[in-house]
Amino acid sequence: MRILVTGGAGFVGSHLVDRLMNQGHEVLCLDNFYTGTKTNIKQWFNNPRFELIRHDITEPIRLEVDQIYHLACPASPIHYQFNPVKTIKVNVIGTLNMLGLAKRVKARFLLASTSEVYGDPDVHPQPEEYRGNVNCIGIRSCYDEGKRVAETLAFDYYREHKLAIRVARIFNTYGPRMLENDGRVVSNFIAQAIRGIPLTVYGDGSQTRSFCYVSDLVEGLMRLMNNDYVGPVNLGNPGEYTILQLAQTIQEMVNPDAELIYKPLPEDDPKQRQPDITKAKHYLDWQPTIPLQEGLKFTIEDFRQKIQV
Ligand code: NAD
Ligand code: UDP
Repeated sequence: MRILVTGGAGFVGSHLVDRLMNQGHEVLCLDNFYTGTKTNIKQWFNNPRFELIRHDITEPIRLEVDQIYHLACPASPIHYQFNPVKTIKVNVIGTLNMLGLAKRVKARFLLASTSEVYGDPDVHPQPEEYRGNVNCIGIRSCYDEGKRVAETLAFDYYREHKLAIRVARIFNTYGPRMLENDGRVVSNFIAQAIRGIPLTVYGDGSQTRSFCYVSDLVEGLMRLMNNDYVGPVNLGNPGEYTILQLAQTIQEMVNPDAELIYKPLPEDDPKQRQPDITKAKHYLDWQPTIPLQEGLKFTIEDFRQKIQV
């Protein structure tokens, strides 16, 4: 098949491109390199089945493809809050452009949505039926509300134009190729521990997250795309940890001498998060296979190569 991956030079997108290329597909990787890098996909530059398109999805584009994995959107809070209006444009106008493209060429369209649509959840763990607790005027809303509109657009194209859509709600994902400076917790803690500087725990560290290794997530995305189930479906690892537990785990694995310091909790930071993956198990026969310790080991190896101390 000919498959378009928007955001294909980013963290998740580049791992997905690897899998699709290894399966023998023709892959079009579209990216504006806002948070993605050519390094993530350079292994495919000489392969005739691979094509790299520098393009900003807030502008329309014409391409002929069979499937679209729509991942383009900065995912880390510091990047999506750097230019919040642009983040909304990417999620609304960008998603509209990609849905328009899918409609024109009758491609199947998978939206990379997020657990952030549940906001600061008061139902725990979060099933797909939960409608969320999002602050529509807060600093995270450019992303949260942006993704909620992206889901709405996808479902309206499905109902109005019979477009074949799939919606994945992705929970915190980590692994090699995360940017060391993107401000997400796993990359921050690993980079800090390697550099021997204090690990920055925000708040008292009692807030929780559930961390999914990137290869598990990519498998889930591909199963969803090639399945009849439309979604939305949660994709994440139900193993839930406090941020303090994560800091201590990384401290032990990388550098027991590194200190922990406490910094203020960012505004609207969700207190708890754990996916209910009943639907993913039932419809996609999917569940994560890589435990946190093992996934951290691979990620730490990658960061040790990137960071010279
Ligand atoms: P990332 O920032 O590494 O990748 C996003 C990619 O999109 C980058 O390559 C970036 O350059 C590109 N991009 C951004 N704006 C663009 C634009 N206007 N036009 C074209 N390309 C653009 O993030 P990621 O972690 O790989 O996330 C990928 C997708 O998965 C995102 O849609 C994100 O919202 C979603 N997601 C990720 C996580 C996670 O924990 N990683 C969790 C939930 C949802
Ligand atoms: N966090 C932290 N220290 C850091 C970076 C993040 O304690 O250096 C916390 C952050 O406040 C949040 C959790 O870790 O509670 C996950 O943050 P991240 O930005 O990775 O993802 P998100 O908040 O979008 O789930």
